Amino acid sequence: MKIDIVSVFPEYFDVLNLSLFGKAQDKGLVEVHAHNLRDWTHDVHHSVDDTPVGGGAGMVMKPVVWSECLDDLLGLEPAVVERTMGADDQADREAEYASATEYAPATTYSPNRPILIFPNPSAPLFTQRDATELSRADHLLFGCGRYEGYDARIPEYYRAQGIDVREYSIGDYVLNGGEVAVSVMLEAITRLLPGFMGNPDSIVEESYTGEGALLEHRQYTKPAEWRGIRVPDVLLSGDHGKVDRFRRDEALERTAQIRPDLIAALDCTALNKQDRKT
Ligand code: SAM
Repeated sequence: MKIDIVSVFPEYFDVLNLSLFGKAQDKGLVEVHAHNLRDWTHDVHHSVDDTPVGGGAGMVMKPVVWSECLDDLLGLEPAVVERTMGADDQADREAEYASATEYAPATTYSPNRPILIFPNPSAPLFTQRDATELSRADHLLFGCGRYEGYDARIPEYYRAQGIDVREYSIGDYVLNGGEVAVSVMLEAITRLLPGFMGNPDSIVEESYTGEGALLEHRQYTKPAEWRGIRVPDVLLSGDHGKVDRFRRDEALERTAQIRPDLIAALDCTALNKQDRKT
């Protein structure tokens, strides 16, 4: 899987050289390129933001810089303006880019282009289902927002060019930038790649995973008794049927208690007769 990331802090992603992700890169399972958005600016200050139209606090990421960068990385033809025209004059340049019209809106998604993903706290929640779907893609391109976020026309524009554009929130809170959110999504996606995990079985039965996605049962290791607390006896019984039933009951009970929304969303066909008694 090829992964491109655009950020004003690309060094954030140096950590991807560590741990399982680093090993996956060594094995050639993933190829990561972190790009600096400022490389696509032309002014002396390398500015990527401007004041919000309509007023208000903070700064918004400019579509002009993002479009130069994304056109390059998505392999789209450069905008209609000559890159040399008004190169010293950012205002001229922005006006020219803003009026560029040579793209005819596409009607279908281009399967050979990367999926373009923007983290955004006001977007739908990123879930295990999304991670599973995205783990089947060949190429992902992430755009990290900063400040008050990115100009809303950026995703709109690339969707109209036939690019599969996703916006996801990683939770109901606001971070300073998209880098942490991209790291979270990347980890959830890439650990599902065949060959990524040392033991492939460890991703089969997990929270949020599979058709009847529940929270996982609790886990224990040795010793059987620790500081006066024993693991449940059934787990020591050696009776696999009983162990499976115990774990399944616990998964159902914990999910009902902690995440009743997951129970409400369960497809009843994912429940067996025994489950219905729980
Ligand atoms: N003004 C925005 C709002 O209130 O919705 C918050 C912008 S936030 C300070 C800057 C960037 O951080 C966003 O554009 C996004 O890329 C990223 N970000 C912050 N919180 C996030 C979250 N919960 N999920 C995904 N991305 C997030």
